[in-house]
Amino acid sequence: MEKSIIIIGGGLTGLAAGCYGRMNGYKTSIFEMHKMAGGVCTAWKRKGYTIDGAMNWLGGTKPGTSFFKFWEELGAAPNWKIYNHDLYSVYEDIDGRAFNIYCDADRFEQYLLEIAPEDEAVIKEFTKGIRDFSRFDMPVEKPAELNNWVDKIKAAKMLPMLMLMKKWMKVSVGDFAKRMKNPYLRQTLTSAFGGEQWPMMMIFWMLGLQHNKGAGYVIGGALELVRFLEERYRALGGEIHFKARVEKILVENDQAVGIKLADGTEHRADWVISAADGRTTIFDLLDGKYIDDTIKNRYDNRDIFEPLIYVGLGINRKFDDVPAAIDGLSFPFEKPIIIAGKEQKRMSLLVYNFDPTLSPEGKNVAHVAYGTDYDYWEELYKDPEKYKAEKERIADEVVDRLNRRFPGIAEQVEMRDVATPMTWVRYTGNWRGSYEGWMFSAESFTGSIRKTLPGLDNFYMAGQWVNPGGGMPTAALSGNHTIQLICKRDNKKFITTRS
Ligand SMILES: Cc1cc2nc3c(=O)[nH]c(=O)nc-3n(C[C@H](O)[C@H](O)[C@H](O)COP(=O)(O)OP(=O)(O)OC[C@H]3O[C@@H](n4cnc5c(N)ncnc54)[C@H](O)[C@@H]3O)c2cc1C
Repeated sequence: MEKSIIIIGGGLTGLAAGCYGRMNGYKTSIFEMHKMAGGVCTAWKRKGYTIDGAMNWLGGTKPGTSFFKFWEELGAAPNWKIYNHDLYSVYEDIDGRAFNIYCDADRFEQYLLEIAPEDEAVIKEFTKGIRDFSRFDMPVEKPAELNNWVDKIKAAKMLPMLMLMKKWMKVSVGDFAKRMKNPYLRQTLTSAFGGEQWPMMMIFWMLGLQHNKGAGYVIGGALELVRFLEERYRALGGEIHFKARVEKILVENDQAVGIKLADGTEHRADWVISAADGRTTIFDLLDGKYIDDTIKNRYDNRDIFEPLIYVGLGINRKFDDVPAAIDGLSFPFEKPIIIAGKEQKRMSLLVYNFDPTLSPEGKNVAHVAYGTDYDYWEELYKDPEKYKAEKERIADEVVDRLNRRFPGIAEQVEMRDVATPMTWVRYTGNWRGSYEGWMFSAESFTGSIRKTLPGLDNFYMAGQWVNPGGGMPTAALSGNHTIQLICKRDNKKFITTRS
């Protein structure tokens, strides 16, 4: 008889775990509180425009790279259309001078040398860093818990790369740029890459992926990716229940035995995986009974992604004058926009002029996003009138600043939509609106957060709350690895295709 797995959450991790569970002969049931799958990997339609809420770039779109095989197995790669950008972003200064960040390191190097030939040595060190990281392909076949001595020897080959990561994690953009003689380049490089403190490692890693064409954009956006996974899951015979909020994880003799839904019904299985928010899982669904100091400290210190204000715009305009760029066009303005008490003096406008499926012909959808303070929005949300008015004010101000950069555009804006941290909390349950869970850290590459809870058996946690840094490829990996761990416990050989 098939053993069974209950999966809490139908985001990418839940769907991936479901697919691999089915491939390995488990009866799988996903319970998702929303009316659709995807979690934070989603989009929403307004007045004929699709506002994409997640797809900037997807690691693993290049055949032959380690993550690609997950997307193949999960039914995405055979069906998707990938767009690879030439530009990472365009960064304008107050005089309107544009600085291009190219995805191709050779092209970027040439461009930087034209701007500052006097900085040749530093520029070449910079682009060498990008090329070095472009060769880095994370070993992803197995969860660290299952590594044997052969795997450890294989992992030793990674040592030079890990040393390089360690080295560049300690150098900030600000410190690196200070070595440049050219004042324009010194200043612009620092600001364009997110300010003084960003570690060079992150920049090399992001641009390395782009140089390698290893992380493209899936035409159709986030929901298209979700559709591929959901179709694959259903084709494999998986069950999915929507509008099914899990209220408790049922435990008997310190073993997870099932779940209780908000409607009072109970469902039982041999294994329970929570692919939902980490804090909810540990402290609400399990009443905080299975924790230790490490878990407590992690949640007390909350080093998580800052939640977002996300302004979606539907614009009756072609935007042939704005080059397609992953992170969009960043430009400054004189009068700051105040959001949750913080002054914003520039905006990054991401125009989806590279994906015609998201807007009516001849028109474009775009978004502008800012990191924001969660507590402010949580408080404001208690007063629906004020909350709504504040969202309107922010949309007005964004359109006003946009109009100063693109005169006349205000008349062409025919759709505005503002999502706040509370939107993410309501629709996905993610703690404090953190859309990608824990911030990147060394653990993002070593997978060292435990996937089990102390004292609780037959239970795993999966997804962005046990894989710091989050992201869609990590969700696929996490689903795969969790089923590998379960197969090991059941003495089954893990397989990735079903005969
Ligand atoms: C604006 C934005 C941009 C992003 N850009 C990128 C990008 O360019 N590239 C990239 O790789 N990643 C990106 N990400 C991150 C990526 O989308 C996420 O890390 C990933 O999709 C997380 O998947 P998950 O399944 O682990 O978690 P989630 O998507 O949070 O899924 C958890 C699911 O559990 C459900 N749930 C919660 N509580 C319960 C409950 N009690 N009962 C039942 N169901 C429950 C939720 O509704 C949700 O569906 C972005 C995310 C956002 C928001």
